[in-house]
Amino acid sequence: MTGGQIGNVDLVKQLNSAAVYRLIDLQGPISRIQVADVSHLAPASVTKITRQLLERGLIKEVAQQASTGGRRAISLTTESAAFHSIAIRLGRNYIEITLYDLSGKHIASAAHNFYYTTQQELTDGLLSHIRRFISGNQNVIKELVAFGITLPGLIDPEKGIVEYMPNIDVNNFPLADTIKDNFGVICFVGNDIRGLALAEHYFGSSKDSKDSILVSMHHGTGAGIIVNGQIFLGFNRNVGEIGHIQIDPLGDKCQCGNFGCLETVAADPAVVTHVQQLLDQGYPSSLQELDGITMLSICEAANNGDELASQALIKVGNQLGKALAMTINLFNPQKIVIAGNITQAKDVVFPAIRRCVETQSLSTFHKDLPIVASELYNQPTIGAFSMIKRAMLNGVLLQRLLED
Ligand SMILES: [Zn+2]
Repeated sequence: MTGGQIGNVDLVKQLNSAAVYRLIDLQGPISRIQVADVSHLAPASVTKITRQLLERGLIKEVAQQASTGGRRAISLTTESAAFHSIAIRLGRNYIEITLYDLSGKHIASAAHNFYYTTQQELTDGLLSHIRRFISGNQNVIKELVAFGITLPGLIDPEKGIVEYMPNIDVNNFPLADTIKDNFGVICFVGNDIRGLALAEHYFGSSKDSKDSILVSMHHGTGAGIIVNGQIFLGFNRNVGEIGHIQIDPLGDKCQCGNFGCLETVAADPAVVTHVQQLLDQGYPSSLQELDGITMLSICEAANNGDELASQALIKVGNQLGKALAMTINLFNPQKIVIAGNITQAKDVVFPAIRRCVETQSLSTFHKDLPIVASELYNQPTIGAFSMIKRAMLNGVLLQRLLED
């Protein structure tokens, strides 16, 4: 997104349109009078904005029986089906692409292995995957309004520039502009875990909370912090690097250069390696019967009462809990969401996390604090879509559609 600064008048326009659209989207069917009441906008402004939204096809009128049984009142709801967006989850060696309508309904999707070692290979491969996806779905794609892309790494979300990726060297990679130049549509770029945290807030397990922390454990370990309904981003734009909290001063060297970071012990590869070492030493375990082990097979064994698998996962729970307790003390969230394969053994892991949280954070902060599993972890592109949804709700994308 390379809009730069926008003038005050335009900003007010954008915010007012967004306020109206948001109310209709989140509380519709809703009447114009109710919109004016709740938004504190003048009825004339509401009428003007809803006319623009109607003309653009973003909302529609529906007749609703008034509760008093009198004449039918006209209410408004959002219209999502005519607007499509492409959401992409870019992994270290795969790409997943989903076509969504603006309500978040899946229209089509594709998943491919995707190997790249340089920024150029990433760019070329990404563009060709998108072109193939678009031409393969030509008959179903309606008006394409935005792209969303999440990836592991550090991102400037304002400019859509990828500043760091854990698996390849990037040099201020202008991803949003690259997509816009090739496909003529605005593109939102974000960190994958922060995107998932936002998705859980809009559509998943933290929908009921304004403040939540999502911790995701996969190849690495990271967090997304939602404060007052927004992803918390610092001046330097990226926060939530919980994976680099030092857990063991004498631990293994981390890819970040420090020692004993959380993700050197509490990440899928670290857990698999640790369990494999114990198996090689001859520890009795049902896992000995398997050819190779994965995080999922360890979780399954733990669920079946395997002692080695359970102990290994409890250890991870303790480490995650220790890091979580620190973030709870800092942010006092209403809900903790855990994402990743490890949630398959949540009956084993979550009690360990809870014990640590209860002994290492303030009791007023952890009293009644739910620790729940992600509901959307198996929808890899939903994080990317949630950035598009946010751009509708905050007016950034909405205003563009109105001005088209
Ligand atoms: Zn580290």
